[in-house]
Amino acid sequence: MSGIKTAETEKEESIFGQLSAMGHEQVVFCHDEPTGLKAIIAIHNTVLGPSLGGTRMWHYATDESAITDALRLSRGMTFKAAISGLNIGGGKAVLIGDTSLKTEAYLRRFGRFVESLNGRYVTAEDVNMKTRDMEYIAMETSHVTGLPEIKGGGGDPSPVTAYGTYLGIKSAAKKAYGNDSLVGKRIVVQGVGQVGKYLVEHLIKEKAQVFITDIFEEKLSEVAKLTGAQAISSASVYDFPMDIYAPCALGATLNDFSIPSLTCDIVAGAANNQLADEETHGQMLVEKGIIYSPDFLINAGGLINVYSEYLGGYKKELALKQTEAIYDTNLRVLQLAEDSGMPPQQVAIDMALKRISSMSKVKLAY
Ligand code: NAD
Repeated sequence: MSGIKTAETEKEESIFGQLSAMGHEQVVFCHDEPTGLKAIIAIHNTVLGPSLGGTRMWHYATDESAITDALRLSRGMTFKAAISGLNIGGGKAVLIGDTSLKTEAYLRRFGRFVESLNGRYVTAEDVNMKTRDMEYIAMETSHVTGLPEIKGGGGDPSPVTAYGTYLGIKSAAKKAYGNDSLVGKRIVVQGVGQVGKYLVEHLIKEKAQVFITDIFEEKLSEVAKLTGAQAISSASVYDFPMDIYAPCALGATLNDFSIPSLTCDIVAGAANNQLADEETHGQMLVEKGIIYSPDFLINAGGLINVYSEYLGGYKKELALKQTEAIYDTNLRVLQLAEDSGMPPQQVAIDMALKRISSMSKVKLAY
């Protein structure tokens, strides 16, 4: 029978089957031959407000992997906004292709597609997208955040994401060790891009022993030189002797292959969708006694920053203050997880869904 598709598996694999399983409202495919633009905008849930989430540019191997990424990332944005107390929904866009495609025309064409959604989706930076790119997109739509501070925007959200992730790591340390000091803790930061490099600075400042890895050798040695962190090989990350593993590259690094090798006490990092399979791998970490801080909760600083910009009159102090709530929320999630025996990711999702559900009723009143 293997290899033969049943009606049930075909339904699960179909686009609408996936939207139904993950609860999406709308997915838009955008195509423009002259500029080479191929984009997918996924709007997951708009009960709390218009969907807000960054645009990721990636050289996806297949269209299917781009769709899966857009669907998983936008769903995560819904939970991230909800658990952070923001009044926005979850959305995300992916641009398929190499960054060499990014011309002014390409970005502005994408901006026009964003504009066509009339504010149901508001964009920002994500992997391979910079503040300058947002400026081009903003030439065609007002539904864009992450603009430079000089233009009234909040600038690059990555430092705020890193700050929130750092606080998430500290609260996980409090749960694991009884106090939140990171002095002397062996911490591996995987991926020293926009977020990872700022996270390393916070950790070094606190006198943690920081080890870094990146597939981009030049970046790795540059960050090592700038911060004093020790570079290690990407291949040896999972069985490296460490107290804390901080994934800050791409998703799905917590999987059947990596989890059995991990000997750390804590996993807490900025990458989105760290668990390859939320249920299976969340449970595997519980069984190994590793404390996992939900990714969408502790990496919410960047969203909080662009949300402040979206509301108008961006105030950095306010965004940082709101980001600090990550510490207590994470501690609460980890305690609830311990009390209930549920994986922390599931506890955090339940908290987010509860807020969405109760707010949907509030909105029924005129
Ligand atoms: P980035 O592209 O600037 O950095 C990612 C880094 O990871 C790059 O240096 C890349 O070379 C490296 N990398 C990729 N695969 C790797 C691997 N297998 N091993 C080691 N290094 C690897 O992206 P970023 O903006 O720093 O975002 C990092 C992660 O955090 C992403 O998952 C992103 O979705 C998430 N995130 C970012 C923000 C933000 O504000 N930028 C907010 C929330 C979540």
